[in-house]
Amino acid sequence: MSGNDRHCVVCGRVADLDPRSVIGDCCAAARDHVVSMQIDQRNGQKLAICPCGWSHRAAPGRDGNIQRDEAVEAHWRAIVMECS
Ligand SMILES: [Zn+2]
Ligand SMILES: [Zn+2]
Repeated sequence: MSGNDRHCVVCGRVADLDPRSVIGDCCAAARDHVVSMQIDQRNGQKLAICPCGWSHRAAPGRDGNIQRDEAVEAHWRAIVMECS
């Protein structure tokens, strides 16, 4: 055991993750959903846009980061559930 096991953000299981990845092999279906993070220049809102057509708009600032991350993880969970 390395002592610093990393967890798949989709299912929460300990996973052998690539240093740049947050999605384990357990939830590989979500890897097709590479969400791009953008900022709406007009109002500072955080946008998360997935190539499948899903998108999310969160508040500006730190709270928006948390909201956005939660929304993205929820999207990935929905994808994995559909595929299992
Ligand atoms: Zn997983
Ligand atoms: Zn998607």
